[in-house]
Amino acid sequence: MSLKGLIDDLVSANHILFKEGVVDGFGHVSVRDERNPERFLLARSIAPATVRAKDIMEFGMDGEALSPRGRKPYLERYIHSEIYRARPDAVAVVHSHSPALIPFGVTGTSLRPVYHMGGFLGSATPIFEIREAGGPATDMLIRDRKLGAALARSLGRAPFALMRGHGAVAVGGTLKQAVYRAIYAEVNARLQAEAMRLGPVTYLNDDEAANASRTNEGVIDRPWELWKKRARE
Ligand code: MN
Repeated sequence: MSLKGLIDDLVSANHILFKEGVVDGFGHVSVRDERNPERFLLARSIAPATVRAKDIMEFGMDGEALSPRGRKPYLERYIHSEIYRARPDAVAVVHSHSPALIPFGVTGTSLRPVYHMGGFLGSATPIFEIREAGGPATDMLIRDRKLGAALARSLGRAPFALMRGHGAVAVGGTLKQAVYRAIYAEVNARLQAEAMRLGPVTYLNDDEAANASRTNEGVIDRPWELWKKRARE
């Protein structure tokens, strides 16, 4: 894909994540630069719904912008840079504060797949505890490389991690996959909370989760085109 194609998809991803209720005025999505895997693309510090191609900046693995030209980067860009450093398989990263996820980061109730669309979550979702790396008095934000690296360690090999009292990160082997995971983690969280109010929940087992995930993520272009259309309306 050309750089322009990659930037266009990243702009679409920003708009989609807003329209689907994953990000609001906050949250961000990045993609690795396939021409140079030591670099990634991320918008300047503005609301995702308002991102346009000229707002997309390029960053190095230290989390610093290569040619800022007066554009201010997101404070939490180290989420992206440190996950890319730790995870060569990561091609895209979404960071959100999507609301249905928050209770699962603070209660000890594990976020687990209640239906096939959440299969990628697997048997348990890691939770990043910022106090372990940042002490008891942070503002909860990933504002430096050290905190970003600690978050990446909590994430480990997982596709998704919660951040206690803050939000979550979704990782994908493609931009579409990261967006898909960010959207369906939120939906799964909503459904899980509803199911738990009704009674004991039967979750997908490990085989069901892995198989459903493989099937769904094989047809990811279909929801992507729908999400793009909806975001344009
Ligand atoms: Mn945040």
